[in-house]
Amino acid sequence: MNIRPNKKQQPGGILIIDDKLENLKVLSEILKQQGYKVRQAINGISALRAIQSSPPDLILLDIKMPEMDGYEVCQKLKQDSQTQEIPIIFISALNEVWDKVRAFQLGGVDYINKPFQVEEVIARIETQFIIQRQKKQLQAEIEYRQAQEERLKEEIQHRLAKEEQLQEEIQRRKETEEILYQSRALIQSVLNTSMDGIAAFQSIRNTMTGKIMDFRCLVVNPIIGQILKQDRSKLMGKVILKRLLKKIDSSLFEKFVNLVETGTPLIDDIFYHSDDTQGWYHFIAVRLGDGFSIAIRDITDRKKIELDLSRWAKLDGLTQIANRHYFEDFLNQEWQRHLQEQKPISLILCDVDYFKAYNDTYGHLEGDDCLKKVAQAIDQVIQRPGNLLARYGGEEFVIILTQTNLLEAGQIATDIQTSIRILNIPHSQSQVSELLTLSFGISSLIPTKENSTFILIKSADQALYQAKQQGRNCIVTQVD
Ligand SMILES: [Mg+2]
Repeated sequence: MNIRPNKKQQPGGILIIDDKLENLKVLSEILKQQGYKVRQAINGISALRAIQSSPPDLILLDIKMPEMDGYEVCQKLKQDSQTQEIPIIFISALNEVWDKVRAFQLGGVDYINKPFQVEEVIARIETQFIIQRQKKQLQAEIEYRQAQEERLKEEIQHRLAKEEQLQEEIQRRKETEEILYQSRALIQSVLNTSMDGIAAFQSIRNTMTGKIMDFRCLVVNPIIGQILKQDRSKLMGKVILKRLLKKIDSSLFEKFVNLVETGTPLIDDIFYHSDDTQGWYHFIAVRLGDGFSIAIRDITDRKKIELDLSRWAKLDGLTQIANRHYFEDFLNQEWQRHLQEQKPISLILCDVDYFKAYNDTYGHLEGDDCLKKVAQAIDQVIQRPGNLLARYGGEEFVIILTQTNLLEAGQIATDIQTSIRILNIPHSQSQVSELLTLSFGISSLIPTKENSTFILIKSADQALYQAKQQGRNCIVTQVD
């Protein structure tokens, strides 16, 4: 049996405690020869001090010592957590069983009887060291396994938490997908059932300059297809907008570019016509990502009504010349312009002479026809942009002559009088002529802050009154 310690392993430090110097000496010699590091203590107190300053790996402890015996030393060491793990081998001449039992009860690991056999001492010490090493290895193994178990637990916890996160993520995605699906279904339904045309476009940009070159059609609903008279599938994904807009209005493309660049919505009415369709469309376009969406409504019918209404609102139903309402608007507008420019504006009021008698004689239909002819004749004379002929009352007409003075207005009245004569409409009941004639009252003003359209109309009216007083079929200019 090789009782020498493994060379690789540093032999442990041994502290020998004995009150007999001789014992200390003998034991020290033996153990040093075996390669152990040995220290000595002659009593309990110096032993405790030595242990405190540098704990040995093993203690050989004599029991019978003065002042503090081996049991007490052992007790103190076992009470201190710093020293309680140091193995203690009692070595004593006390051979009673009771002594040995006490030694083991106090925590001794072995008991050697004095006088001792050298081989026995070495073997027992070696055994203790082996036990200590195995204990340490076991402890290390246990700690290693505990640490591994701990890591495994943490790993499991971590994976469980991840699994939970994953489940939550899956649930969230399912919900999002459901919402997305519902939204798509809703959008599809809106697109397909909308009475308005709806489309979305994406900018096509120059990769070098970033400038918008055209737009790609992303979405088109059936109404857009109907307006353009094209199959929807042929529009989707196509870059067609620039070409299409050019046909409608050359400025529209730039307007859409501006909308995308600035985010300012574009609202407008356009007139669209192709070979086999035409109409008015109202549209609202708003920026959508790097592009825009557009809603288009056919307003052709509304536009027609509006145009009819505005014509109807301006025209006299019978004669198809301007009505009195439009005359007033026009006069106010021109008045302001002439006020700024300080130019004369003239008014001619004229009245068909003895028109009641005409109606009584020839009937109302002939009367209406006569008024239409008079209106046409006057209209032809005053045909100049800026002038306006309107029906003022029953058989009364009013003429606005812009940038015209009294003298020029008088000449125009004379021309009208001539053209009426040329109409050659018989009027058997007229007391001034055999033909239909008119009476004229003329006024003219350069607008100032002091006068007004009311004064202009009033003086033309007074002049007309004068013309009637003077026997009709004549022209009277205003008397200031
Ligand atoms: Mg002794």
